[in-house]
Amino acid sequence: MSELTPHSGPRYDVRIEPVDIGRWRAGNTGTDYVWSFEADRPGPHVMVNAVTHGNELCGVIAVDLLLREKVRPKRGRLTLSFANVEAYERFVPGDPTSSRYVEEDLNRVWSPEVLDGPRDSIELRRARALRPVVDTVDLMLDIHSMQHDGPALDLCGMPEKGRRLAAGTGVPEWVVSDRGHAAGRRLRDYGPFGETGNDRAALLIECGQHWQPETVDMAIQASFRFLLYLEAIEPAVAVDHLDAETPPTQRFVEVTEPVTIRNENFVFIGNYRGMEIVAKAGTAIGMDGDETVRTPYDDCVMVMPSQRLRQGLTAVRFGRLVG
Ligand SMILES: [Zn+2]
Repeated sequence: MSELTPHSGPRYDVRIEPVDIGRWRAGNTGTDYVWSFEADRPGPHVMVNAVTHGNELCGVIAVDLLLREKVRPKRGRLTLSFANVEAYERFVPGDPTSSRYVEEDLNRVWSPEVLDGPRDSIELRRARALRPVVDTVDLMLDIHSMQHDGPALDLCGMPEKGRRLAAGTGVPEWVVSDRGHAAGRRLRDYGPFGETGNDRAALLIECGQHWQPETVDMAIQASFRFLLYLEAIEPAVAVDHLDAETPPTQRFVEVTEPVTIRNENFVFIGNYRGMEIVAKAGTAIGMDGDETVRTPYDDCVMVMPSQRLRQGLTAVRFGRLVG
């Protein structure tokens, strides 16, 4: 399934097929690939968003399913969207990593300074087109996947409301509170989602490795459970899509610090896939050039070790088990 290549760790085969979403282009909101449905009864505006990163197929398959099955809200409003379609359309199984974005990362532009600023790119144009809808969303599930085949996890931000939303949804097992990226704000952290003092919240779910069937299963499970928890859909709508088994008890982690790569060559010491718990403080987990990177405390959780080990990027995040 995977083989070892020097420097870059395991390489993963593409075991799922991208779906053709051309039929959803028109949308019904005035924005391509954005569909929104209103119920008669009042309720929150709930959004399930896919493919913020163009090579993350699982969310596309989940949102395509929700649209094909004509899932409609029983209260409030339900928006279903495909975010970076331009990048997704460039996905090729033979080179599956290059279509993460076209010109820049769509998940690093979600601050007013950038959105209202003078810069232009394919991704910024898309973010600006999505923004009027996002501005009215109360609760969002933004579906992603990861480079490694580590366990699925929610990134729920620092405010407590994110953790509550993750707990209510019930999957995945791991829930990680973090502050986001210095390189630019994520959709998950946009506006009120990232602030305290309001009830609007967003989850970024990392469903598993980008191109594995289990990752698609998690995207579908999480989408239906999220909508059920928020009473956005009738239970009967979800029943055929839920695992019969009770999901594992969730575990909560708070990211204390990112490990930002400072030198030209970073290598991990050990084969980390994600969510390993390193028992002893001071354990060497990587070499950043000539500098040894060590865990800062006992029972340190390795959150989302990266395969893109370039200067200035995040190699891994250190986290503490909480709650
Ligand atoms: Zn992503």
